[in-house]
Amino acid sequence: MTSLAVRPDSGAAPGSAGRPPDPLAVLLTTLDELETLSRFDVEPAAARADAAAATARELGRPDLEQRALLAAADLMRRRGAVAEAGRIAQEVHRWATEARSRHLIARSSFVLTAVFQELGDLAGALEHAVQSVDLLDDDTLPALRVDHLVRLADVLGLSRDPAAPERYATVLRLAEDLGDVDRQLRILNNRAYTDTLAGRFADALHFSTRLQDLAAAQGIPLDVGRLDTVARALMGLDRLDEAEAALAPGLAPEVLGSSHDGDAGADYLLTLAEVQRRRGAVDAAQATLDECVRRCVEHGLTSIRVRARAEQAELHAAAGDHRAAFEEHKRFTAELVEQQSAQRESRARAMQAMYETTEARRQSRRWRELSLRDPLTGLHNRRHVDDELPRMLADGGQVWVALLDLDHFKRVNDTCSHAVGDEVLRAVAGLLQQAAPGTGSLVARLGGEEFLLVLAGVDAGTAARHLEQVRAAVAAHPWGPLTGDLPVTVSIGAAGTVDVPDRTAAQLLGRADARLYRAKRGGRDRVVLGD
Ligand code: GH3
Ligand code: MG
Ligand code: MG
Repeated sequence: MTSLAVRPDSGAAPGSAGRPPDPLAVLLTTLDELETLSRFDVEPAAARADAAAATARELGRPDLEQRALLAAADLMRRRGAVAEAGRIAQEVHRWATEARSRHLIARSSFVLTAVFQELGDLAGALEHAVQSVDLLDDDTLPALRVDHLVRLADVLGLSRDPAAPERYATVLRLAEDLGDVDRQLRILNNRAYTDTLAGRFADALHFSTRLQDLAAAQGIPLDVGRLDTVARALMGLDRLDEAEAALAPGLAPEVLGSSHDGDAGADYLLTLAEVQRRRGAVDAAQATLDECVRRCVEHGLTSIRVRARAEQAELHAAAGDHRAAFEEHKRFTAELVEQQSAQRESRARAMQAMYETTEARRQSRRWRELSLRDPLTGLHNRRHVDDELPRMLADGGQVWVALLDLDHFKRVNDTCSHAVGDEVLRAVAGLLQQAAPGTGSLVARLGGEEFLLVLAGVDAGTAARHLEQVRAAVAAHPWGPLTGDLPVTVSIGAAGTVDVPDRTAAQLLGRADARLYRAKRGGRDRVVLGD
């Protein structure tokens, strides 16, 4: 059964008056429904979300496709694929942030809140929960607003934040105004549960009682998770008989048997065993605990299994078998430690999987690549040279480093314009690239009107011939259309690994710079390659 809320002003009733349904209107309604589901079966909902994503794609609406993908991710999370759900939600979140879509940012934050909560990162959850509430628009569906507010209250409650009760009170009033019973029950349960966590058992009981009363008035049976909440409140107040009575409806096969996640059932049984033991019904408690353990084994519920050991130790002690109690307690502590470190590892893995999105990898590669390029000419920049030159030197062969500086470049800027100066720099960059002999060479703009050329694996003669070609190509280029009468020439100072005692980039560049200075002093438009 689903409880659906439809935007009250959605006048376009799809398919009304015999007209074919407008696919966009249908899609919007579907998305609203998917985002506000409260009690539902996961599988059909997931199929609807996938179909909605496909429709959005066909309609060319990437914003709606992202909404559908997010709805699918949230369902994935409910089925236990937390890391994968988180990964998709992060991608939608990034998309929404770039597209400045408030609704999608709020929605993806809402899903991420649950993901972080399940991964045990309450700080991360809180950050997203706050954003998921702050960014809701005024025309947000009321049911959806309630969901976001509840999740924020839940995170505060789980963090034992004193602001939680007030948050629950506000959102409970909202759900009451809406007449939304499912959501009221959820709020009452979560409020009571977080009250027990904080040790506020009287409050917990107050809201548990309201939970029971509302459920009874509406003829809705409480599931085992909610019965467990009620019992914990009573146990906290040492009202053990009432706690056991409160748990009793859960033993009906249609309640305990139907709890789809074995989790809630095992948890419930553990609470029941504790109540029974504390009331002195040791045999009944042992039978309940045995059933709990059986479920843990069947469903692989490690964390409840570990807690069941602590209860088993208590039971042994209650039966007077202190030796067995001690042994069981030792097993409990050992398994607890083991389980905590396994949890830490799996959380770390999930977190990593979430952040390692292909998109993020692509982006960071692009950013890194951009950061190593000079924006004016597209050549590599000094940072790239700092990375690359030492690597080329480490390879062992002969390496030549040439520094090229445009002659009287200031005149080009002053006589023509800075813009023409830029064009000249771009043209020179093009000539250098054309002249660079493919493999083993590197062309970069170090800054201003200064360039670098690295030639690897060539002897002195070849390097000299090549650099002379570069100089001549610049001088011979038809600059007239750009600079008029002003010639453009370049001075080059070069040094090779044969010239320096150590194969370091600093030594090579220093020697080349000294030779560049000599080329300038010698009259410019020339190559200096030796001393
Ligand atoms: P020299 O032959 O001694 O090298 O003389 P020069 O004029 O080339 O040398 P100087 O270092 O005095 O001037 C370099 C000029 O290059 C100054 C500066 O305005 C210009 N410049 C540096 N970067 C850029 C740029 O990105 N674009 C343009 N248009 N000009 C630049
Ligand atoms: Mg210069
Ligand atoms: Mg210059």
